[in-house]
Amino acid sequence: MSDKVFNKKIFAYIVAVVLSVFCFLPCLCLVEAEEQPSEAPTVYAADVSVTQGSGTYIYVYAKNFADVSGLDLFVRYDTSAFTLGRATKGSFISSALCDVNAETAGEIRLSYVSVDGVSGDGLILTVLLYSESEAEIKDYKVDIIVGDCYDSGLNSVAVSASGCKITVKEKQQITETVTFYSRYEDVTKRKGDEVALSFYTYNSHGFASADFEINFDDEMLALKSVSLGESLKNTDSATFSVNDKTDGYVKISYAALSAAPSYVTVLEISFTVIGDKDGQTQIEFISSALYNSDLTAYNGSKSIVTVNTEEIPSVIVYPKISLKAHSVTYSEVELDIFAEKDTLLAAGDFFVEFNAEEYECVDIVKIFDGSMIVGNTAFKAGMARLSFIYEDGISGDTAIARLRFKVLAPCETKSEFSISGSKITDKDFNEQIVEYVGTTIVVPHDFSNEFTTDEQPTCDTSGSKSHHCSRCAAVKDVTEIDALGHEYIHHEAKAPTCVEIGWKAYDTCSRCNYTTYEEIKAKGHTKAVAVEENRIEATCLEKGQYDSVVYCSVCNEELSREKKIIEALGHDYIHHKAKAPTCVEIGWEAYDTCSRCDYTTYKEISEKGHTKAAAVEENKIEATCLEDGHYDSVIYCSVCNEELSREEKTIEALGHEYGEWIVDLEPTVSAEGREYRKCLRCEHREERSVEKLKNDDEELSGCFGTLDLTSIVMIVAIMLICGVFVKVKSRKSNR
Ligand SMILES: [Zn+2]
Ligand SMILES: [Zn+2]
Ligand SMILES: [Zn+2]
Ligand SMILES: [Zn+2]
Ligand SMILES: [Zn+2]
Ligand SMILES: [Zn+2]
Repeated sequence: MSDKVFNKKIFAYIVAVVLSVFCFLPCLCLVEAEEQPSEAPTVYAADVSVTQGSGTYIYVYAKNFADVSGLDLFVRYDTSAFTLGRATKGSFISSALCDVNAETAGEIRLSYVSVDGVSGDGLILTVLLYSESEAEIKDYKVDIIVGDCYDSGLNSVAVSASGCKITVKEKQQITETVTFYSRYEDVTKRKGDEVALSFYTYNSHGFASADFEINFDDEMLALKSVSLGESLKNTDSATFSVNDKTDGYVKISYAALSAAPSYVTVLEISFTVIGDKDGQTQIEFISSALYNSDLTAYNGSKSIVTVNTEEIPSVIVYPKISLKAHSVTYSEVELDIFAEKDTLLAAGDFFVEFNAEEYECVDIVKIFDGSMIVGNTAFKAGMARLSFIYEDGISGDTAIARLRFKVLAPCETKSEFSISGSKITDKDFNEQIVEYVGTTIVVPHDFSNEFTTDEQPTCDTSGSKSHHCSRCAAVKDVTEIDALGHEYIHHEAKAPTCVEIGWKAYDTCSRCNYTTYEEIKAKGHTKAVAVEENRIEATCLEKGQYDSVVYCSVCNEELSREKKIIEALGHDYIHHKAKAPTCVEIGWEAYDTCSRCDYTTYKEISEKGHTKAAAVEENKIEATCLEDGHYDSVIYCSVCNEELSREEKTIEALGHEYGEWIVDLEPTVSAEGREYRKCLRCEHREERSVEKLKNDDEELSGCFGTLDLTSIVMIVAIMLICGVFVKVKSRKSNR
């Protein structure tokens, strides 16, 4: 491959790249450009089709609106083929301030202002168009043009718009007709009279929209009022417009969302007759453009009302001679005969007729200077007559005479007074034609100037007073008399007690039974805690009792008293142990006592007394050989050892108890011996001499021969003592 060829290939490649870049860039730009409109705010309407003579709706939508606060929009259609049914704003701008203007033929202008701005998509306008029945069969353009548009900051907003087309198809065959009839009371009318009529159908076929036209002769009739029938006005979403701008013509366009009732009055219209001539005038009613809510068309119909008119007959007006009240009281009435200037009255006879049961004519008085009057108050029953002469003839409206009547009738009687005349002439004796005008008089009341109290006021109701008629029961100037108000008497409050009612402080009235008294109920007793009374305590053996009494804690009244029994207590035993009796003390068996009473089962056991034991010797001092001894003979109780008795006893002296005589010196025949003996108990020693020894005679002599005188005395003494002792002892034993 040569360098040249290589270079060519390189070049071709670069060209291709550059071309492709140049080709793609616009494409990218286009993609962006196409996306832009889809986000831009737009208004548009979809294409529709319609048959000749029918209607169709065109819905204008907003899309991609963002903060659109104000918008002017025009929808233009071809008036050669379409007439406007109606145009209404859509739900999308329901909260906006809105104006739909269809005054210009072929154009509907929608303007809205929304403070908050409108954003999003939605229906902004609905237009109902009717195609002419002879409209050319083709497509028609409907233009949608956006005028001023701005956001809530009043910055201009660009809104694109796209219209639509209406395809008109061949007319459908209308077979049904809605026939209308008139309602009119055929009375011949004169100028100034009202002509009222209405139009109705009894088979409406449920039309939902229609045009009604009235043609009339505007030289004979002036439109006074026109309105849609009430039931049409009340149909769902009914709208209508009245066009009476054209002389002799009225058009009412009606449309609603739902069907009219089958029998329906569609139009009520009235005229004032303005022409003044004999003849007839016609009112023509034409209905057209009738569609039901499915936009099916119906033939309309025509109805003609003929109004008969007549010319108002011309009236010749004669000058009047009339009766006029001059003064009227309950007792007297004065009537003037009053002649108008044009009567040119110079002379005449006048007859005044009245009800003779109600009035009596009492006087006829001349009141016009220069005239002459001849009167007869009672020309006939209920008729007065007078002749009047004034040679120059009157030159102004003149009261020519006064008739005075006494009132016989009761109050409020309404009476006619009439006047007639004859030979009414002017000063040249030309007879004058006049019109006579009577008058009506009502008898007034004779009200007193003083008030009469009709109803006395009470404390709380007003009374009334009035002026009374002296002749009848009538009253006037009924005036309220203020209520007197109460004359209060104050009563102090009284508190209720347990058994008596009380009341708050209150007022009564000295005149009436007014009172603010409010009773406070008695409070009833308040039971205090029951207390005991008349209590008798129960003892061990007997029942006690008391009264359980409930008092009112407030008033201390005794509310109840009930006798209650207290059961006997029974003994409160104290046990005592048994005690055995002793020799000198009593004893008892075990027993019970009561701590409260002297109940006891105590039984005494007597003392047993002492039991004498055998006497015993005490304090004994033994008797000696020479001296007495003694002792106490004592008796004790063998049970308790108590000393029961003590007696002193003497023991007699024992005397010596000698042993054998013992010779301690042996007697000889010449000399006496000696011997002794000793007491076995004591040491007492008794001695004695032993006689000298001798032959046997000697021995006896010797026994006595030896007794000297001293020994003899001694023996006698002992013998004496022994005799005394025996004597004493026997005496003691006897004692
Ligand atoms: Zn009266
Ligand atoms: Zn009172
Ligand atoms: Zn009480
Ligand atoms: Zn006891
Ligand atoms: Zn004893
Ligand atoms: Zn002795």
